[in-house]
Amino acid sequence: MRSALVVVDMLNDFLDGALANPAAGGIVEPIQLLAGRARSSRDWLVVYVNDAHELSDVELRVFPPHAMAGTAGAAVVDALRPEQGDVVVPKRFYSSFTESSLEHELRAHDVGRLVLVGQHTDCCVRHTAYDAFARGFELAVCPDATTVFAPGSSDPVSERQARAIGYLRTYYGARVVQSDEVD
Ligand code: ZN
Repeated sequence: MRSALVVVDMLNDFLDGALANPAAGGIVEPIQLLAGRARSSRDWLVVYVNDAHELSDVELRVFPPHAMAGTAGAAVVDALRPEQGDVVVPKRFYSSFTESSLEHELRAHDVGRLVLVGQHTDCCVRHTAYDAFARGFELAVCPDATTVFAPGSSDPVSERQARAIGYLRTYYGARVVQSDEVD
């Protein structure tokens, strides 16, 4: 059984584009380091789950257009660009499992555990975690390699992040592990 590092929505629009997030810059390096370690091990797979929206998508009732399929805003940020052997899964919903090839890819690569990084901890990461939990995958999440959407609320980011991580631990049994302690 292998582990997958699942990198959620580390796209141009989510860093400094349509849904720019000042809190996201700080998680790039931890993800970069984790991905480098994962690529050096046969027991790991690096999986990108990337918004690739169409104008008819339900999410666009709530958020302005972002990560529209085929645009520069929908591309992974340069510092985290996928490499050969990584798996890239486009998605159109908060959960990376909804109407996507993610489950098929994970099963095909004998993945049994997901380590979630990226954004947003209380939205796409959370909904992806639910669907992973419901499908029997083991879960871990890195609090220093995930973030909430800073402009989404006036509550402090650190509090919202702590709540979001706590939710994943409480309801999905996610292991909470710092990025440099992932094994
Ligand atoms: Zn979206």
